[in-house]
Amino acid sequence: MSDCLFCKIAAGVIPSTKVYEDETVLAFRDIAPMAPTHVLVIPKVHISGVSEITAENAALVGHCLEVAAIVAAQEGLENGFRVVSNCGADACQTVNHLHFHVLGGRKLTLEMA
Ligand code: AMP
Repeated sequence: MSDCLFCKIAAGVIPSTKVYEDETVLAFRDIAPMAPTHVLVIPKVHISGVSEITAENAALVGHCLEVAAIVAAQEGLENGFRVVSNCGADACQTVNHLHFHVLGGRKLTLEMA
């Protein structure tokens, strides 16, 4: 087992509050939510971040975004939502396993930095 937190969550070794799961992708609630809905969508295989997206894994990454849309619909975010992926130290990525934050349920600010 890799030492990666989200690999352990994907494997079920560390518990999470799942909102969606299929063979290749998992979505679960963020432990420190920044909005009424704050879900993380991850590929089950380890990809360290957006900088590691390649032609070979692009279909899986696209599926992660499809799942983000499914989760947003499940959560009733018909008024809109935001999908964010932090990559690297300057973006304050804290878990080095590709994840897409799905945020919504309130009016989000325009602040990007
Ligand atoms: P980032 O800072 O973009 O790398 O996002 C990592 C996210 O993972 C943060 O929003 C954390 O709150 C969240 N997080 C860390 N540990 C857990 C956990 N065990 N379960 C759910 N979310 C977590």
